[in-house]
Amino acid sequence: MSLDLTDEQREFRADVRAFANEEIAPVAGELDRNEQYPEEILAALGKERLTGITLSEGHGGLGKGHVELAILIEELSAELMPVASALALNLGVATVLERFGSEELRRKFLPGMARFETIGALGLSEGEAGSDKRAMVTTAEKQGEEWILDGHKQWVTNFLDADVVLTYARTGASGEESGREGGDGGGISAFLVPADAFEVEEVWDTLGARSVKSPRVSLTDVRVPADRLVGTEGQALAERGRLDTGVNLPARGVGIARAALEDTVAYGSEREQFGQSIGDFQGVGWTIGEMATRVDTARLLTLRAAKCADREADTARELSMAKIHATEAAVANANDAMQIHGGIGYTTEHDIERYLRDARLLTIAGGPNELHRNTLAETVLSN
Ligand SMILES: Cc1cc2nc3c(=O)[nH]c(=O)nc-3n(C[C@H](O)[C@H](O)[C@H](O)COP(=O)(O)OP(=O)(O)OC[C@H]3O[C@@H](n4cnc5c(N)ncnc54)[C@H](O)[C@@H]3O)c2cc1C
Repeated sequence: MSLDLTDEQREFRADVRAFANEEIAPVAGELDRNEQYPEEILAALGKERLTGITLSEGHGGLGKGHVELAILIEELSAELMPVASALALNLGVATVLERFGSEELRRKFLPGMARFETIGALGLSEGEAGSDKRAMVTTAEKQGEEWILDGHKQWVTNFLDADVVLTYARTGASGEESGREGGDGGGISAFLVPADAFEVEEVWDTLGARSVKSPRVSLTDVRVPADRLVGTEGQALAERGRLDTGVNLPARGVGIARAALEDTVAYGSEREQFGQSIGDFQGVGWTIGEMATRVDTARLLTLRAAKCADREADTARELSMAKIHATEAAVANANDAMQIHGGIGYTTEHDIERYLRDARLLTIAGGPNELHRNTLAETVLSN
């Protein structure tokens, strides 16, 4: 498989890099410090339909593939990772809708979501259903032509600015045969619920990703029309598992790992101690070389997973390898960057401390890396 980018993809990368340098870099630190949603940046991306990059042109998107998605997410994350989170979560919801939603829901919501004028959030995780989504307790009960939803959702990224939440709820019994609590993941359905039907319970103060909040929200006797069901009743988790939107997670890791490397290369040549650039100390140079290797391997694995997704091949092995390696590369590079920046790297004068705080989320969100290690082991052992 060739991992070379086409001329068109290189041009696309240059364009989004220029956008990120001009529009995000100057305000990234301020947005993080003020915990301010990157509304204007997302609106500008929406104007270009980059927020709907993989949605079909017929639904208002750009009709591009996962490779372009990975390129876009890397470039945004190299400047401010939560911009990429906000974009990816909305796009993930839109992708479920495009793939499994009714024609009416698609027509009504997708053009707005592609432009980030209608903002989507994902209501999948719960307090007791983190890694194990089958343990979810939120219910949806059918009454006539309506569904009545009760429960809560946790870590709903984008929620404070969202218009709709793709809400997963138990609508029936799970698979009986497995005999384990929560069953086989069956019996869970997805609904497109207006965000104003929820109550906010908790907006956490987080280590990183501070400009895009992920609160806990609750639903009490919320009625939605029957046509808000997205996909097949009882099959929402299985349907979700057939999508490859997860490519955005390793791509976010590549972006932070690269930013940490670039800042360290610059600092390593500029900062002098003992009459020489610190980059000329062999130990520092070796570390910088290792950081560059992590960026390249993380990007290659991410592009390989994206190419597999574009070929509609099974991505389980490629995606878990990319997710584990790229997110851990981001943490390792941010950590090494801080060491090489010394005391000033520990302050907010440089972006390094933000890279480290933002990177730390990536090994947990999108399923902790331990779950991806389980998937990887299964796919490797079964071959
Ligand atoms: C800032 C943020 C934003 C998020 N955004 C969203 C969102 O928009 N929508 C959404 O639905 N969810 C979202 N999530 C939820 C995220 O996907 C979950 O946090 C994640 O799936 C892990 O669940 P948990 O935090 O409950 O950890 P738990 O499931 O309690 O796991 C805790 C730890 O236990 C270990 N562990 C768990 N299972 C295994 C296993 N099988 N084998 C080995 N070790 C294991 C791991 O070390 C893991 O980190 C977000 C989370 C955060 C923190």
